[in-house]
Amino acid sequence: MKKSIKTYLKHPTNDNSNRSANPPVIRASTILFNTMQELYGHEKKIKRNQKITHYSYGRYGSSTTIELENMLKELEGAFHVFLTGTGFGGISLALMSICRPGDEILVSDNVYGPTKEISEKLLKEFKINAIFYNPESFYDLKSKISKKTKMILVENPGSNTFEFQDLSKIVKLAKRKKIYTFLDNTWGTPLYLKPLKIGFDMSFSSATKYYSGHSDAMGGSLAVNKKVFKSIMFFYKLSGYRMSADEAYLIIRGLRTLDTRLKQHFENTLKIINFLKKQKKIIEILYPYKPSSRNYKLWKKYYSGATGLLSIVIKSKKKSSVIRFVNSLELFGIGYSWGGFESLAILQDLKKQTEYTKGRHFFRFKKDEHIVRLHIGLEDPKDLIFDLKRSLKYIK
Ligand SMILES: *Cc1c(COP(=O)(O)O)cnc(C)c1O
Repeated sequence: MKKSIKTYLKHPTNDNSNRSANPPVIRASTILFNTMQELYGHEKKIKRNQKITHYSYGRYGSSTTIELENMLKELEGAFHVFLTGTGFGGISLALMSICRPGDEILVSDNVYGPTKEISEKLLKEFKINAIFYNPESFYDLKSKISKKTKMILVENPGSNTFEFQDLSKIVKLAKRKKIYTFLDNTWGTPLYLKPLKIGFDMSFSSATKYYSGHSDAMGGSLAVNKKVFKSIMFFYKLSGYRMSADEAYLIIRGLRTLDTRLKQHFENTLKIINFLKKQKKIIEILYPYKPSSRNYKLWKKYYSGATGLLSIVIKSKKKSSVIRFVNSLELFGIGYSWGGFESLAILQDLKKQTEYTKGRHFFRFKKDEHIVRLHIGLEDPKDLIFDLKRSLKYIK
């Protein structure tokens, strides 16, 4: 009988030769072979993506990172998984492997900030043109496709404003036009949505978030199908991207409890939302929590669960009072990232232009509507509600 993924994440291998419940942390640069023939044979195996227990050199990983690759391969249903030292490394790996001068890429306007910056600024310097499309308009996406379109980069949902897109429609269109597809699936994780099964060529997750789950490790995972494997392997080997064995170990440890943690994040989130929805200063909750929520149907169509990240839209003429609200929270830390055990809050200034980007091209919120992103952690929701209640008073 095929084991369920929940069971698999507890017992990924049958190898207990080291007699401990966990894999050893193998830190290695040189990997030793018995003969030259063995070394050559091994490199052939890697090229063909055959099952291996070690690489031929530490730059590509060690048996600890292979253990993690295998777990994620199973979780994603992937041909291969490339691990990187940070989440963002997985995004730049995909872009730099696939895009070449003269190409165009279509990028969902709601993507993670640095994804926008690399598309808008760095790729341009390589003569690759990024065009941003409205994540809530399939028509807009469709109308921007040209003969030069090489790749469609989707983030679903957008991790600040939580737009959900009709994913299989995008895949169908892309396949017809021979365009590669990439999905940033960090919010849902492959536990709740499997991008490769829908037909995406590349499924990305920042392992820094829910995979590791404890705000103490960074990593990225780019799971791919056979079609793009060769191009990505080529760039992966030459770029020097790699995840360390120690980081891989922490992420393996996080994955054991991914299912239970996500369940609890969701349960806590619903309790918090139940409180938030009664607050007059909050005019919208960006999260698919009820059938009348924006894009609820699209969430329901593709996802088997929801996680702990959401945004609230606060109406106030005084931005400083919204900042005061965030500052006065005691249990919600102020800081980047999310997906750890702890609650976080941050005011997002999405319209802001920077040296590298023009900010949002499609933005439906008004000047006096402020977006505060919350990560609901694993604390007792009663305490979180008390904290929010006390601090919301500061909003004018
Ligand atoms: C955090 C994040 C990333 C980048 O991951 P890092 O590990 O911080 O480099 C990419 N996409 C999304 C949606 C994220 O939230």
